[in-house]
Amino acid sequence: MSEMMLATLSNIRTVEDMVAAFRDEEHCRHLLEGMVWRDGRVCPACGYKRSIAIAGRDMGKRRARAGLYQCSSGDCRFQFTVTTHTPMHATKLPLRVWLKAMWLLLQSDKGLSSVRLAEVLGVSQPTAWRIGHALRLMVVARAYARRHGRSGPFLSWLKAQKACP
Ligand SMILES: [Zn+2]
Repeated sequence: MSEMMLATLSNIRTVEDMVAAFRDEEHCRHLLEGMVWRDGRVCPACGYKRSIAIAGRDMGKRRARAGLYQCSSGDCRFQFTVTTHTPMHATKLPLRVWLKAMWLLLQSDKGLSSVRLAEVLGVSQPTAWRIGHALRLMVVARAYARRHGRSGPFLSWLKAQKACP
């Protein structure tokens, strides 16, 4: 499944393709999960590799939303989504905005100014700046991980995309 999603993303060549690929949040969430958890879902708190989807479950005041998972480790039970503990989490932006921003970044050799990003994404310039900053943070995190002999699946995905445009 994950490979299929990656293939889908690699095949996005035109803006029209992009609009179709990022058409709704549910679809975007699946795409992003495929990128972040390429080798299966991992708890961001403890690294445990088993977790369950708890969408629709009663959580007291509200129902668990789609894309919410709970770590199966008895000591942890951490609840998380695909953006938990990533720079994407701090904002309340729709996932499709993040995916579009990533796609645009991958398409541009020289990087994108926040002014341009704001225009293309239809968000305010401060928001565009935060998006750019978060994506740069992820690139820095990748460089750090590589220096320490590690490479997160998501970050290696970005790297691979950059390497073969
Ligand atoms: Zn855990």
